[in-house]
Amino acid sequence: MIPFNKPVVTGKEQKYLAETFAERHFCGGGKFSEKCSRWIEKKTGTKRALMTTSCTDALEMSAILADIQPGDEVIMPSFTFVSTATAFVLRGAHIKFVDIRPDTMNIDESRIEEAITPRTKAIVPVHYAGVGCEMDTINDIAKLYNLLVIEDAAQGVLAYYKGKPLGSIGDLGCYSFHETKNVHSGEGGALLVNNKKFIYRAEIIYEKGTNRLAFSKGFIDKYTWIDIGSSFLSSELNNAFLYAQLEDAEKITNKRLQLWNRYYENLKHLEEKGILELPKIPKYCHHNGHIFYIKVRNKEERSKLMEFLEKRGIQTTLHYIPLHSSPAGKRFGEFVGKDIYTTRESERLLRLPMFYDLTEEEVDMVCDYIDLFFTHKLALYRIRI
Ligand SMILES: *Cc1c(COP(=O)(O)O)cnc(C)c1O
Repeated sequence: MIPFNKPVVTGKEQKYLAETFAERHFCGGGKFSEKCSRWIEKKTGTKRALMTTSCTDALEMSAILADIQPGDEVIMPSFTFVSTATAFVLRGAHIKFVDIRPDTMNIDESRIEEAITPRTKAIVPVHYAGVGCEMDTINDIAKLYNLLVIEDAAQGVLAYYKGKPLGSIGDLGCYSFHETKNVHSGEGGALLVNNKKFIYRAEIIYEKGTNRLAFSKGFIDKYTWIDIGSSFLSSELNNAFLYAQLEDAEKITNKRLQLWNRYYENLKHLEEKGILELPKIPKYCHHNGHIFYIKVRNKEERSKLMEFLEKRGIQTTLHYIPLHSSPAGKRFGEFVGKDIYTTRESERLLRLPMFYDLTEEEVDMVCDYIDLFFTHKLALYRIRI
Protein backbone atom coordinates (compact mmCIF):
# COMPACT_ATOMS: atom_id res chain seq x y z
CA MET A 1 0.00 0.00 0.00
CA ILE A 2 1.44 3.40 -1.00
CA PRO A 3 -0.44 6.27 0.66
CA PHE A 4 -0.73 9.70 -0.94
CA ASN A 5 0.99 11.40 1.99
CA LYS A 6 2.79 10.39 5.15
CA PRO A 7 3.74 13.35 7.36
CA VAL A 8 7.50 13.62 7.75
CA VAL A 9 9.17 13.05 11.14
CA THR A 10 12.87 13.89 11.47
CA GLY A 11 13.49 12.25 14.85
CA LYS A 12 14.43 15.45 16.70
CA GLU A 13 10.86 16.58 17.42
CA GLN A 14 10.60 14.64 20.70
CA LYS A 15 13.89 16.01 22.00
CA TYR A 16 12.79 19.60 21.39
CA LEU A 17 9.36 18.92 22.84
CA ALA A 18 11.05 17.54 25.98
CA GLU A 19 12.92 20.85 26.30
CA THR A 20 9.65 22.75 26.48
CA PHE A 21 8.63 20.46 29.35
CA ALA A 22 11.93 21.06 31.14
CA GLU A 23 11.49 24.82 30.78
CA ARG A 24 7.75 24.75 31.44
CA HIS A 25 7.12 27.22 28.68
CA PHE A 26 4.23 26.12 26.49
CA CYS A 27 2.48 29.23 25.21
CA GLY A 28 3.56 31.28 22.21
CA GLY A 29 6.64 33.49 22.13
CA GLY A 30 9.08 31.02 23.71
CA LYS A 31 12.56 29.95 22.66
CA PHE A 32 11.45 27.71 19.78
CA SER A 33 8.88 30.17 18.50
CA GLU A 34 11.67 32.77 18.30
CA LYS A 35 14.00 30.28 16.60
CA CYS A 36 11.34 29.51 13.97
CA SER A 37 10.76 33.22 13.30
CA ARG A 38 14.50 33.86 12.97
CA TRP A 39 14.89 30.85 10.66
CA ILE A 40 12.22 32.19 8.30
CA GLU A 41 13.60 35.74 8.45
CA LYS A 42 17.11 34.50 7.65
CA LYS A 43 16.00 32.20 4.82
CA THR A 44 13.68 34.67 3.15
CA GLY A 45 14.97 38.10 4.11
CA THR A 46 11.49 39.11 5.30
CA LYS A 47 11.41 41.96 7.83
CA ARG A 48 9.33 40.03 10.38
CA ALA A 49 8.01 36.46 10.53
CA LEU A 50 5.18 35.84 12.99
CA MET A 51 4.44 32.20 13.84
CA THR A 52 0.71 31.47 13.55
CA THR A 53 -1.49 28.45 14.14
CA SER A 54 -2.12 28.07 10.39
CA CYS A 55 -1.70 29.64 6.99
CA THR A 56 -5.41 30.43 7.25
CA ASP A 57 -4.58 32.60 10.28
CA ALA A 58 -1.79 34.34 8.39
CA LEU A 59 -4.22 35.07 5.56
CA GLU A 60 -6.80 36.39 8.03
CA MET A 61 -4.16 38.67 9.56
CA SER A 62 -3.33 39.86 6.04
CA ALA A 63 -6.96 40.70 5.38
CA ILE A 64 -7.07 42.83 8.54
CA LEU A 65 -3.76 44.52 7.63
CA ALA A 66 -5.11 45.22 4.14
CA ASP A 67 -7.94 47.03 5.93
CA ILE A 68 -10.59 45.20 3.91
CA GLN A 69 -14.01 46.81 4.35
CA PRO A 70 -17.39 45.33 3.32
CA GLY A 71 -17.72 45.56 -0.45
CA ASP A 72 -13.98 45.79 -1.14
CA GLU A 73 -12.69 43.44 -3.80
CA VAL A 74 -9.83 40.98 -3.81
CA ILE A 75 -8.45 39.24 -6.90
CA MET A 76 -7.29 35.61 -6.78
CA PRO A 77 -7.39 32.39 -8.80
CA SER A 78 -10.41 30.11 -8.41
CA PHE A 79 -8.11 27.07 -8.40
CA THR A 80 -7.04 27.36 -4.75
CA PHE A 81 -7.80 26.26 -1.21
CA VAL A 82 -10.87 27.81 0.48
CA SER A 83 -8.80 29.73 3.04
CA THR A 84 -7.38 31.97 0.34
CA ALA A 85 -10.91 33.31 -0.11
CA THR A 86 -12.55 32.91 3.34
CA ALA A 87 -9.87 35.01 5.03
CA PHE A 88 -11.01 38.02 2.98
CA VAL A 89 -14.71 37.12 2.91
CA LEU A 90 -14.65 37.25 6.74
CA ARG A 91 -13.81 40.98 6.43
CA GLY A 92 -16.68 41.48 3.97
CA ALA A 93 -14.72 41.26 0.73
CA HIS A 94 -16.19 40.31 -2.62
CA ILE A 95 -13.88 37.90 -4.45
CA LYS A 96 -12.98 38.37 -8.11
CA PHE A 97 -11.74 35.04 -9.44
CA VAL A 98 -9.62 35.05 -12.57
CA ASP A 99 -8.44 32.23 -14.79
CA ILE A 100 -5.23 30.26 -14.33
CA ARG A 101 -2.42 29.49 -16.76
CA PRO A 102 -2.54 25.89 -17.96
CA ASP A 103 1.25 25.45 -17.70
CA THR A 104 1.71 26.20 -13.98
CA MET A 105 -1.92 26.18 -12.71
CA ASN A 106 -1.11 29.62 -11.24
CA ILE A 107 -3.11 32.83 -11.68
CA ASP A 108 -2.91 34.13 -15.25
CA GLU A 109 -1.23 37.50 -14.71
CA SER A 110 -2.57 38.76 -18.04
CA ARG A 111 -6.16 38.38 -16.73
CA ILE A 112 -5.70 40.44 -13.58
CA GLU A 113 -6.10 43.94 -14.99
CA GLU A 114 -9.60 43.35 -16.37
CA ALA A 115 -10.76 42.36 -12.87
CA ILE A 116 -9.59 45.61 -11.25
CA THR A 117 -12.24 48.16 -10.22
CA PRO A 118 -12.08 51.23 -7.93
CA ARG A 119 -12.98 48.89 -5.04
CA THR A 120 -10.08 46.48 -5.57
CA LYS A 121 -7.75 46.32 -2.57
CA ALA A 122 -5.44 43.38 -3.13
CA ILE A 123 -4.16 40.67 -5.44
CA VAL A 124 -3.57 37.24 -3.90
CA PRO A 125 -1.31 35.05 -6.04
CA VAL A 126 -1.18 31.39 -4.99
CA HIS A 127 2.09 29.57 -5.73
CA TYR A 128 0.64 26.21 -6.69
CA ALA A 129 2.90 23.23 -6.00
CA GLY A 130 5.65 25.60 -4.87
CA VAL A 131 6.05 26.99 -8.39
CA GLY A 132 6.22 30.77 -8.38
CA CYS A 133 3.55 32.97 -9.99
CA GLU A 134 4.67 35.65 -12.45
CA MET A 135 5.53 38.00 -9.57
CA ASP A 136 7.31 40.75 -11.54
CA THR A 137 4.19 41.40 -13.62
CA ILE A 138 1.88 41.07 -10.60
CA ASN A 139 3.94 43.56 -8.58
CA ASP A 140 3.98 45.98 -11.53
CA ILE A 141 0.18 45.84 -11.84
CA ALA A 142 -0.20 46.31 -8.08
CA LYS A 143 2.05 49.36 -8.13
CA LEU A 144 0.20 50.88 -11.08
CA TYR A 145 -3.21 50.54 -9.38
CA ASN A 146 -1.99 51.01 -5.81
CA LEU A 147 -2.98 47.51 -4.65
CA LEU A 148 -1.45 45.22 -2.07
CA VAL A 149 0.09 41.89 -3.02
CA ILE A 150 -0.52 39.11 -0.51
CA GLU A 151 1.20 35.85 -1.43
CA ASP A 152 -0.51 32.60 -0.51
CA ALA A 153 2.81 30.80 -0.24
CA ALA A 154 1.30 27.93 1.79
CA GLN A 155 3.12 25.48 -0.49
CA GLY A 156 6.13 27.68 -1.15
CA VAL A 157 8.63 27.11 1.67
CA LEU A 158 12.17 26.90 0.22
CA ALA A 159 10.99 27.64 -3.33
CA TYR A 160 12.13 30.62 -5.38
CA TYR A 161 11.08 32.98 -8.17
CA LYS A 162 14.03 34.60 -9.95
CA GLY A 163 16.13 33.82 -6.89
CA LYS A 164 13.66 35.40 -4.46
CA PRO A 165 12.04 33.15 -1.83
CA LEU A 166 8.30 32.68 -2.36
CA GLY A 167 6.39 34.51 0.35
CA SER A 168 8.97 37.31 0.51
CA ILE A 169 8.07 39.06 -2.76
CA GLY A 170 4.69 40.72 -2.07
CA ASP A 171 3.75 43.10 0.77
CA LEU A 172 2.78 40.10 2.89
CA GLY A 173 3.36 36.36 2.54
CA CYS A 174 1.63 33.38 4.16
CA TYR A 175 3.22 29.99 4.91
CA SER A 176 1.56 26.77 6.01
CA PHE A 177 3.06 24.13 8.26
CA HIS A 178 0.08 21.78 8.04
CA GLU A 179 1.11 18.12 8.01
CA THR A 180 0.30 17.86 4.30
CA LYS A 181 3.05 20.38 3.52
CA ASN A 182 6.79 19.75 3.05
CA VAL A 183 7.73 20.74 6.62
CA HIS A 184 5.09 20.86 9.34
CA SER A 185 3.97 20.99 12.94
CA GLY A 186 0.65 19.20 12.50
CA GLU A 187 -1.11 22.55 12.22
CA GLY A 188 0.94 25.70 11.81
CA GLY A 189 1.76 28.71 9.70
CA ALA A 190 3.59 32.01 9.51
CA LEU A 191 2.94 35.54 8.35
CA LEU A 192 5.85 37.14 6.51
CA VAL A 193 5.72 40.90 6.86
CA ASN A 194 7.79 42.10 3.90
CA ASN A 195 6.52 45.66 3.77
CA LYS A 196 7.82 47.27 6.94
CA LYS A 197 4.89 49.66 7.21
CA PHE A 198 2.81 46.70 8.44
CA ILE A 199 5.14 45.46 11.20
CA TYR A 200 3.76 47.60 14.03
CA ARG A 201 0.12 46.79 13.36
CA ALA A 202 0.81 43.12 12.56
CA GLU A 203 2.28 42.61 16.04
CA ILE A 204 -0.82 44.14 17.62
CA ILE A 205 -3.35 42.14 15.57
CA TYR A 206 -1.31 39.02 16.38
CA GLU A 207 -1.74 39.57 20.14
CA LYS A 208 -5.54 40.00 20.32
CA GLY A 209 -5.36 43.67 19.40
CA THR A 210 -3.05 44.59 22.27
CA ASN A 211 0.48 45.98 22.37
CA ARG A 212 1.58 43.07 24.53
CA LEU A 213 4.50 42.16 22.24
CA ALA A 214 6.02 45.63 22.66
CA PHE A 215 5.42 45.26 26.42
CA SER A 216 7.13 41.87 26.65
CA LYS A 217 10.14 43.28 24.78
CA GLY A 218 10.30 46.08 27.37
CA PHE A 219 9.45 48.91 24.95
CA ILE A 220 6.46 50.08 27.03
CA ASP A 221 5.62 49.63 30.72
CA LYS A 222 2.02 48.40 30.48
CA TYR A 223 -0.04 46.86 27.75
CA THR A 224 -3.51 47.74 26.61
CA TRP A 225 -6.19 47.07 23.98
CA ILE A 226 -5.63 49.29 20.94
CA ASP A 227 -6.98 47.59 17.79
CA ILE A 228 -8.94 44.58 16.49
CA GLY A 229 -7.10 41.27 16.47
CA SER A 230 -7.25 37.68 17.55
CA SER A 231 -5.13 34.98 19.16
CA PHE A 232 -3.12 34.17 16.08
CA LEU A 233 0.06 32.97 17.76
CA SER A 234 0.99 29.29 17.84
CA SER A 235 2.09 27.47 20.95
CA GLU A 236 5.66 26.64 21.89
CA LEU A 237 4.78 22.94 21.56
CA ASN A 238 4.01 23.36 17.87
CA ASN A 239 7.10 25.43 17.28
CA ALA A 240 9.43 23.04 19.13
CA PHE A 241 8.17 20.33 16.77
CA LEU A 242 8.44 22.67 13.79
CA TYR A 243 11.97 23.82 14.56
CA ALA A 244 13.20 20.24 14.37
CA GLN A 245 11.73 20.12 10.87
CA LEU A 246 13.08 23.51 9.81
CA GLU A 247 16.60 22.42 10.75
CA ASP A 248 16.20 19.59 8.24
CA ALA A 249 14.12 21.51 5.72
CA GLU A 250 16.81 21.55 3.01
CA LYS A 251 17.32 17.82 3.34
CA ILE A 252 13.58 17.17 3.19
CA THR A 253 13.18 19.43 0.14
CA ASN A 254 16.11 17.81 -1.68
CA LYS A 255 14.66 14.35 -1.15
CA ARG A 256 11.30 15.47 -2.49
CA LEU A 257 12.97 17.03 -5.52
CA GLN A 258 14.82 13.80 -6.15
CA LEU A 259 11.52 11.86 -6.09
CA TRP A 260 9.85 14.53 -8.23
CA ASN A 261 12.60 14.26 -10.85
CA ARG A 262 12.32 10.50 -10.88
CA TYR A 263 8.59 10.69 -11.54
CA TYR A 264 9.31 13.16 -14.32
CA GLU A 265 11.99 11.02 -15.99
CA ASN A 266 9.89 7.85 -15.69
CA LEU A 267 6.77 9.41 -17.19
CA LYS A 268 8.39 11.63 -19.83
CA HIS A 269 7.86 9.10 -22.60
CA LEU A 270 4.10 9.15 -21.99
CA GLU A 271 4.10 12.90 -22.44
CA GLU A 272 6.17 12.59 -25.59
CA LYS A 273 3.54 10.19 -26.97
CA GLY A 274 0.80 12.72 -26.14
CA ILE A 275 -0.83 10.42 -23.57
CA LEU A 276 -0.55 12.70 -20.55
CA GLU A 277 0.96 16.01 -19.46
CA LEU A 278 3.58 16.65 -16.81
CA PRO A 279 4.10 19.80 -14.71
CA LYS A 280 5.85 22.71 -16.44
CA ILE A 281 8.41 24.61 -14.39
CA PRO A 282 9.32 28.06 -15.80
CA LYS A 283 13.09 28.47 -16.21
CA TYR A 284 13.39 31.13 -13.52
CA CYS A 285 11.38 29.15 -10.93
CA HIS A 286 13.08 26.89 -8.46
CA HIS A 287 10.36 24.69 -6.96
CA ASN A 288 10.39 22.53 -3.83
CA GLY A 289 8.91 19.21 -4.93
CA HIS A 290 5.70 19.85 -3.02
CA ILE A 291 3.36 18.16 -5.51
CA PHE A 292 3.86 15.83 -8.42
CA TYR A 293 0.81 15.84 -10.64
CA ILE A 294 -0.07 14.49 -14.05
CA LYS A 295 -2.82 15.70 -16.34
CA VAL A 296 -4.78 13.09 -18.25
CA ARG A 297 -7.28 13.57 -21.08
CA ASN A 298 -10.39 14.26 -19.01
CA LYS A 299 -12.35 13.60 -15.82
CA GLU A 300 -13.53 10.14 -16.93
CA GLU A 301 -10.04 8.95 -17.72
CA ARG A 302 -8.85 10.33 -14.40
CA SER A 303 -11.50 8.36 -12.46
CA LYS A 304 -10.55 5.16 -14.28
CA LEU A 305 -6.85 5.69 -13.59
CA MET A 306 -7.49 6.47 -9.92
CA GLU A 307 -9.54 3.32 -9.54
CA PHE A 308 -6.92 1.27 -11.39
CA LEU A 309 -4.18 2.51 -9.06
CA GLU A 310 -6.34 2.20 -5.93
CA LYS A 311 -6.94 -1.48 -6.74
CA ARG A 312 -3.17 -1.92 -6.79
CA GLY A 313 -2.73 -0.20 -3.42
CA ILE A 314 -1.69 3.21 -4.72
CA GLN A 315 -3.49 6.21 -3.35
CA THR A 316 -3.79 9.27 -5.59
CA THR A 317 -5.85 12.42 -5.08
CA LEU A 318 -7.51 15.22 -7.00
CA HIS A 319 -6.99 18.81 -6.03
CA TYR A 320 -9.21 21.86 -5.69
CA ILE A 321 -12.75 22.01 -6.99
CA PRO A 322 -12.72 25.55 -8.44
CA LEU A 323 -14.04 27.95 -5.80
CA HIS A 324 -16.26 29.92 -8.18
CA SER A 325 -18.34 26.79 -8.80
CA SER A 326 -18.90 26.10 -5.07
CA PRO A 327 -22.01 27.34 -3.19
CA ALA A 328 -20.02 29.83 -1.09
CA GLY A 329 -17.91 30.90 -4.04
CA LYS A 330 -21.07 31.89 -5.90
CA ARG A 331 -22.34 33.79 -2.89
CA PHE A 332 -19.16 35.67 -2.06
CA GLY A 333 -17.51 36.08 -5.42
CA GLU A 334 -17.65 35.91 -9.19
CA PHE A 335 -15.48 34.78 -12.05
CA VAL A 336 -14.17 37.61 -14.23
CA GLY A 337 -13.53 36.82 -17.87
CA LYS A 338 -13.78 33.40 -19.40
CA ASP A 339 -13.10 30.18 -17.50
CA ILE A 340 -10.94 28.65 -20.20
CA TYR A 341 -8.55 26.64 -18.07
CA THR A 342 -9.65 26.63 -14.41
CA THR A 343 -12.37 23.99 -14.66
CA ARG A 344 -10.92 22.05 -17.56
CA GLU A 345 -7.42 21.71 -16.16
CA SER A 346 -8.54 21.00 -12.59
CA GLU A 347 -10.67 18.11 -13.85
CA ARG A 348 -7.65 16.52 -15.56
CA LEU A 349 -5.20 16.86 -12.69
CA LEU A 350 -4.20 13.93 -10.50
CA ARG A 351 -1.67 14.10 -7.67
CA LEU A 352 0.64 11.11 -7.19
CA PRO A 353 2.07 9.93 -3.84
CA MET A 354 4.73 12.37 -2.62
CA PHE A 355 6.31 12.39 0.83
CA TYR A 356 9.73 12.26 2.44
CA ASP A 357 9.70 8.52 3.23
CA LEU A 358 8.60 7.49 -0.25
CA THR A 359 11.28 5.39 -1.94
CA GLU A 360 12.55 5.49 -5.51
CA GLU A 361 11.36 1.88 -5.92
CA GLU A 362 7.86 2.97 -4.93
CA VAL A 363 7.98 5.84 -7.43
CA ASP A 364 9.03 3.35 -10.10
CA MET A 365 6.17 1.07 -9.15
CA VAL A 366 3.61 3.87 -9.38
CA CYS A 367 5.01 4.81 -12.79
CA ASP A 368 4.99 1.21 -14.00
CA TYR A 369 1.31 0.93 -13.17
CA ILE A 370 0.54 4.24 -14.89
CA ASP A 371 2.46 2.93 -17.87
CA LEU A 372 0.49 -0.29 -17.75
CA PHE A 373 -2.79 1.60 -17.58
CA PHE A 374 -2.03 3.57 -20.72
CA THR A 375 0.19 1.50 -22.95
CA HIS A 376 -0.84 -2.02 -22.15
CA LYS A 377 -4.49 -1.43 -21.48
CA LEU A 378 -5.54 -3.61 -24.40
CA ALA A 379 -3.07 -6.37 -23.66
CA LEU A 380 -4.23 -6.43 -20.09
CA TYR A 381 -7.86 -6.83 -21.09
CA ARG A 382 -6.87 -9.71 -23.33
CA ILE A 383 -5.13 -11.45 -20.48
CA ARG A 384 -8.24 -11.09 -18.32
CA ILE A 385 -10.49 -12.43 -21.05
C1 LIG B 1 -2.56 24.30 2.80
C2 LIG B 1 -3.01 25.55 2.14
C3 LIG B 1 -3.67 26.57 2.85
C4 LIG B 1 -4.12 26.41 4.27
O1 LIG B 1 -3.11 26.15 5.16
P1 LIG B 1 -3.47 25.87 6.70
O2 LIG B 1 -2.14 25.97 7.36
O3 LIG B 1 -4.06 24.51 6.76
O4 LIG B 1 -4.40 26.94 7.14
C5 LIG B 1 -3.98 27.74 2.19
N1 LIG B 1 -3.68 27.91 0.90
C6 LIG B 1 -3.07 26.95 0.17
C7 LIG B 1 -2.75 27.21 -1.27
C8 LIG B 1 -2.72 25.73 0.77
O5 LIG B 1 -2.12 24.79 0.04
